[in-house]
Amino acid sequence: MKCEDAIKNMDRFVNHNLTTKELAEFLEHIDSCPSCYEELETYYTVAIALHYLDQNDGEGYNIPHRLQHNLQEARNRVRREKRYYVALHILLMILVAVLILMLIFVQAPEIGGELEDFLAHFLRIF
Ligand SMILES: [Zn+2]
Repeated sequence: MKCEDAIKNMDRFVNHNLTTKELAEFLEHIDSCPSCYEELETYYTVAIALHYLDQNDGEGYNIPHRLQHNLQEARNRVRREKRYYVALHILLMILVAVLILMLIFVQAPEIGGELEDFLAHFLRIF
Protein backbone atom coordinates (compact mmCIF):
# COMPACT_ATOMS: atom_id res chain seq x y z
CA MET A 1 0.00 0.00 0.00
CA LYS A 2 1.24 3.49 -0.87
CA CYS A 3 1.13 6.47 1.52
CA GLU A 4 -1.56 8.02 -0.64
CA ASP A 5 -3.83 4.96 -0.21
CA ALA A 6 -3.08 4.72 3.51
CA ILE A 7 -4.15 8.35 3.97
CA LYS A 8 -7.31 7.74 1.93
CA ASN A 9 -8.17 4.76 4.18
CA MET A 10 -7.71 6.58 7.51
CA ASP A 11 -11.32 7.67 7.68
CA ARG A 12 -12.50 4.12 7.08
CA PHE A 13 -10.03 2.75 9.65
CA VAL A 14 -11.27 5.15 12.33
CA ASN A 15 -14.88 4.18 11.53
CA HIS A 16 -14.08 0.42 11.43
CA ASN A 17 -15.15 0.19 7.79
CA LEU A 18 -12.13 -1.60 6.27
CA THR A 19 -12.40 -5.19 5.11
CA THR A 20 -9.94 -7.58 6.78
CA LYS A 21 -7.78 -7.65 3.63
CA GLU A 22 -7.71 -3.84 3.43
CA LEU A 23 -7.04 -3.70 7.16
CA ALA A 24 -4.05 -6.05 6.83
CA GLU A 25 -2.52 -3.87 4.09
CA PHE A 26 -3.31 -0.70 6.04
CA LEU A 27 -1.69 -2.02 9.26
CA GLU A 28 1.36 -3.24 7.36
CA HIS A 29 1.85 0.25 5.95
CA ILE A 30 1.13 2.10 9.21
CA ASP A 31 3.54 -0.16 11.13
CA SER A 32 6.36 0.54 8.67
CA CYS A 33 5.76 4.21 7.75
CA PRO A 34 6.35 6.71 10.59
CA SER A 35 4.98 9.62 8.57
CA CYS A 36 1.64 7.87 7.92
CA TYR A 37 1.50 6.80 11.57
CA GLU A 38 1.91 10.44 12.58
CA GLU A 39 -0.76 11.42 10.07
CA LEU A 40 -3.08 8.73 11.47
CA GLU A 41 -2.49 9.97 15.01
CA THR A 42 -3.50 13.48 13.96
CA TYR A 43 -6.51 12.22 12.01
CA TYR A 44 -7.55 9.99 14.89
CA THR A 45 -7.14 12.78 17.45
CA VAL A 46 -9.40 15.11 15.46
CA ALA A 47 -12.02 12.39 14.81
CA ILE A 48 -12.12 11.30 18.46
CA ALA A 49 -12.10 14.89 19.75
CA LEU A 50 -15.09 15.74 17.54
CA HIS A 51 -16.86 12.58 18.63
CA TYR A 52 -16.28 13.16 22.34
CA LEU A 53 -17.17 16.83 22.21
CA ASP A 54 -20.73 15.59 21.82
CA GLN A 55 -20.51 12.69 24.25
CA ASN A 56 -18.31 14.30 26.96
CA ASP A 57 -16.78 10.94 27.86
CA GLY A 58 -13.58 11.07 29.95
CA GLU A 59 -12.14 8.08 28.08
CA GLY A 60 -11.72 10.25 25.01
CA TYR A 61 -8.81 12.19 26.51
CA ASN A 62 -6.08 9.56 26.38
CA ILE A 63 -6.10 9.55 22.60
CA PRO A 64 -2.64 8.07 21.80
CA HIS A 65 -3.45 5.20 24.15
CA ARG A 66 -6.84 4.69 22.49
CA LEU A 67 -5.21 4.66 19.05
CA GLN A 68 -2.69 2.03 20.19
CA HIS A 69 -5.57 -0.01 21.59
CA ASN A 70 -7.52 0.26 18.32
CA LEU A 71 -4.47 -0.70 16.26
CA GLN A 72 -3.88 -3.73 18.49
CA GLU A 73 -7.51 -4.82 18.12
CA ALA A 74 -7.21 -4.46 14.34
CA ARG A 75 -4.00 -6.55 14.33
CA ASN A 76 -5.78 -9.22 16.39
CA ARG A 77 -8.67 -9.25 13.90
CA VAL A 78 -6.28 -9.77 10.96
CA ARG A 79 -4.41 -12.52 12.88
CA ARG A 80 -7.67 -14.28 13.85
CA GLU A 81 -8.87 -14.31 10.26
CA LYS A 82 -5.51 -15.68 9.03
CA ARG A 83 -5.61 -18.46 11.65
CA TYR A 84 -9.17 -19.26 10.60
CA TYR A 85 -8.14 -19.72 6.97
CA VAL A 86 -5.16 -21.88 7.91
CA ALA A 87 -7.46 -24.10 10.01
CA LEU A 88 -9.95 -24.24 7.13
CA HIS A 89 -7.19 -25.31 4.70
CA ILE A 90 -5.99 -28.05 7.05
CA LEU A 91 -9.57 -29.28 7.48
CA LEU A 92 -10.06 -29.34 3.69
CA MET A 93 -6.81 -31.29 3.20
CA ILE A 94 -7.96 -33.84 5.79
CA LEU A 95 -11.33 -34.14 4.03
CA VAL A 96 -9.63 -34.65 0.66
CA ALA A 97 -7.34 -37.30 2.19
CA VAL A 98 -10.34 -39.11 3.71
CA LEU A 99 -12.18 -38.94 0.37
CA ILE A 100 -9.17 -40.37 -1.48
CA LEU A 101 -8.89 -43.22 1.05
CA MET A 102 -12.63 -43.92 0.73
CA LEU A 103 -12.33 -43.98 -3.07
CA ILE A 104 -9.41 -46.43 -2.85
CA PHE A 105 -11.44 -48.74 -0.59
CA VAL A 106 -14.50 -48.54 -2.86
CA GLN A 107 -12.75 -48.72 -6.27
CA ALA A 108 -10.03 -51.23 -5.50
CA PRO A 109 -10.82 -53.35 -2.44
CA GLU A 110 -7.61 -55.36 -2.91
CA ILE A 111 -5.48 -52.20 -2.59
CA GLY A 112 -7.85 -51.06 0.13
CA GLY A 113 -7.29 -54.36 1.92
CA GLU A 114 -3.52 -53.95 1.73
CA LEU A 115 -3.87 -50.40 2.94
CA GLU A 116 -6.09 -51.61 5.76
CA ASP A 117 -3.46 -54.19 6.77
CA PHE A 118 -0.76 -51.56 6.56
CA LEU A 119 -2.79 -49.12 8.69
CA ALA A 120 -3.65 -51.84 11.22
CA HIS A 121 0.06 -52.77 11.42
CA PHE A 122 0.98 -49.10 11.71
CA LEU A 123 -1.55 -48.52 14.50
CA ARG A 124 -0.36 -51.64 16.38
CA ILE A 125 3.08 -50.06 16.65
CA PHE A 126 1.59 -47.23 18.74
ZN1 LIG B 1 3.16 6.10 4.37
